[in-house]
Amino acid sequence: MGLGYDDTPFLPGGHWRVHDGNRPQPPIVTPACECGGPPSDAIVLFDGTSLDGWVKAADGSPAEWKVENGYMEVVPGKGQIATKQHFGSCQLHLEFATPGVVKGESQGRGNSGVFLMGRYEIQVLDNYDNPTYPDGTVGAIYGQFPPLANAIRKPGEWNSYDIVWEAPVFVNGKCVVPAFVTVFLNGIVLHNRKQLLGPTNHRVLTDYVEHPPVGPLELQDHGDLVRFRNIWYRPLRDYDEA
Ligand code: MG
Repeated sequence: MGLGYDDTPFLPGGHWRVHDGNRPQPPIVTPACECGGPPSDAIVLFDGTSLDGWVKAADGSPAEWKVENGYMEVVPGKGQIATKQHFGSCQLHLEFATPGVVKGESQGRGNSGVFLMGRYEIQVLDNYDNPTYPDGTVGAIYGQFPPLANAIRKPGEWNSYDIVWEAPVFVNGKCVVPAFVTVFLNGIVLHNRKQLLGPTNHRVLTDYVEHPPVGPLELQDHGDLVRFRNIWYRPLRDYDEA
C-alpha cells in the first residue's frame, strides 16, 4: 500500500503531487538528550575540551584563548579566533556568558561577537541594565538592525544563541542574493529572516563585496572575559536535496 496519493494535482514545478507518497522521506535526526546539545547530524565546532578546531583569525596560528570547565574564554589581546572549518548557510547553536564581574559601560561591558563567515557580526554584549546604541545591542546585526528584544540574562549566566544563516550569493562579483539571518536569544526571536545590508562594520555604511561561498565562524576578542561553550552547526539544505 502506498503512503500517499497518485491521483492528486501536481505541486508547482511539476515534480511531486499533493500528498505524494514517493517524495523522499525527511531524514531522521536524533535530538540531544539535553536542551541545546548537538543533534545526531550536527558538526561540533567546540565541545568544551580543546581549541584544536580553531585558529587565530588574523594569521591562522593556533588559537590562544583559555579552555577550562567545558568553556572557552577570551584572553584579551590574543585576538579574534576562527574555526578551521568553513561553511555557508547553516543552523548554528552556541552559548555564551558575559563576565560575572561587571565593569565598563555601553560597548565596553562584556563585548564580543559572533561573526558569520568571518564578516557578519551578531553582537555579544552585556546589556543587562546597560544601555548602548540600539544597533549595537546584544543580538543586533551590528551597525544595521537592533534586535526585536533585549533578552540577555544577568552577568555570568549562560545565554543561548540559535541562528539560521542564509549566505549571500555572488555572480561575477555582484551580490545577486543578499544574506538573511534569523536569530533567537534564549528562545526569544530577535530577527526573523532579516536581510543584511552587507558585512557589519563600525561607524560606516556597508555594501556587499564578493567573497567565497563558505567562510569560518569567528568569535571576537573585544578585551572582555566573555565565555563560549557548546558550539555546533548543521548545514542548511533544501528539502529535496536532503
Ligand atoms: Mg562585538
